[in-house]
Amino acid sequence: MNKNAEQVWTSCLSIIKDIVEWQHFRTWFEPIKPILLKENVLIIQVPSQFFFEYLEEHYVNLLSKTLKRELGKDAQLEYRIMVDGGNNYNKPVTIDVPGQGYKSFSNNEMDFPLVINNPVKNPFVIPGLKKMHIDPQLNALYTFDAFIEGDCNRVARRAGKTVAEKPGANSFNPLVIYGGVGLGKTHLGQAIGNEVKRLHPNKVVLYVSSEKFINQFIDHSRNNAINDFIHFYQLIDVLIIDDIQFFNKAEKSQDAFFAIFNHLHQSGKQLVLTSDKSPKDLEGVQERLLSRFRWGLSADVQLPDYETRIEILERKMKNDGLEMPKEVVKYIAYNISSNIRELEGALISLLAQSSLNRREIDLELAKKVLRNFIKTSSKEITIDTIQKMVCDYFDVSYDKLLQKTRKREIVQARQITMYLAKSFTKNSLKTIGEHFGGRDHTTVIHSCQTVKDLMDTDGVFRDNVMELQQKVQLAAM
Ligand code: ADP
Ligand code: MG
Repeated sequence: MNKNAEQVWTSCLSIIKDIVEWQHFRTWFEPIKPILLKENVLIIQVPSQFFFEYLEEHYVNLLSKTLKRELGKDAQLEYRIMVDGGNNYNKPVTIDVPGQGYKSFSNNEMDFPLVINNPVKNPFVIPGLKKMHIDPQLNALYTFDAFIEGDCNRVARRAGKTVAEKPGANSFNPLVIYGGVGLGKTHLGQAIGNEVKRLHPNKVVLYVSSEKFINQFIDHSRNNAINDFIHFYQLIDVLIIDDIQFFNKAEKSQDAFFAIFNHLHQSGKQLVLTSDKSPKDLEGVQERLLSRFRWGLSADVQLPDYETRIEILERKMKNDGLEMPKEVVKYIAYNISSNIRELEGALISLLAQSSLNRREIDLELAKKVLRNFIKTSSKEITIDTIQKMVCDYFDVSYDKLLQKTRKREIVQARQITMYLAKSFTKNSLKTIGEHFGGRDHTTVIHSCQTVKDLMDTDGVFRDNVMELQQKVQLAAM
């Protein structure tokens, strides 16, 4: 290394040290290595592109001022950016870039006042990594590909894609995604982040939950570093804040968020927010924020319908390389309709049970496992209720159901009713038999067995039974 470069740089640092807070000094100046001094050009090596941009954006005045003190008014700065650190076999790769911001500044008068942009502490630095960059906090599994589209989420998903393609340059800014628990808000927010990174690798993306945002804010306000906090967030190109309902009553955090929101929005940066309520129902959030949320698009995610649930299950299985009989998939989709997280939970439990017991996944196992998932009946379901439901469903009269007819439809309706009565009530076989015009318990056993057999072989029959099961379950809730 050229001795002169080092001397010049050491003198610069001695000034910078007194001006910049020591944490910022350590973060942004200590990693810099002076490389070469060629006449009035000092070359310094920085660990990454981001680092370079950051220095140019935030410390250009300071660098210029100090360097000119050392080298005179024609002083220039050049950066050597470490692109690849190299290893035992490969030499490190670097590129040299003249300081752009610096250049434009160097045209100005020498006695430009020493204005220092507020240096920013980065709360998302990955410790241990030399390279300075913001970890976007994204889970690579949450992609658009893995996010099944249905009527329940079409608008939100498509708006999300548009946002990811042209972040900031679309009319969905901010994009607010709202809806109940486990319906895909986080997944969608993350998918936008992942897609932006894929399409625009240089954009700075950050996903953060509102709770984390609030906690960071509190930490920074303790250390009198609120400006650092706000400035850090203002560096982001695509800011995704999850579960903004937790801003509820966090007044000071909302003030900070308001400043960040305005800055980002005005600079054409993208905001994506999720919430468990529609913005108009968000309580404890300042009106000035709410009115800004209305500038963009609010799109909801709803409960998926049966077909979408099947598709979601099939996609999850495909992603995990799993297979199971279609009837089991249908059974799960029929029975778990509360939300998608529960749907996944049921699938995972089923897999766990099957591998623990070294047992193929079949309908019987699914029923056993799902018993824990399906809400235990809060209302007592009676044999009479089930009889009435089956009669309605197949459009047969109650009298016919009890008669000794051998007509196939009636016989099947009766067998299904017994089967459902056996599954959903605590009545004995004898009692069930009595409710069907005094048949004995062996008839009930035979009926239940016939229904099970038919469900294995006859798809239409099975669908009928499942749909009825669903209805009975709903009635029991
Ligand atoms: P929320 O944030 O709304 O509570 P999540 O985004 O955490 O819900 O979703 C819960 C689970 O359901 C996640 O594992 C997610 O991958 C999955 N999920 C949600 N919606 C879909 C969808 N449309 N397609 C596939 N998986 C989904
Ligand atoms: Mg969530």
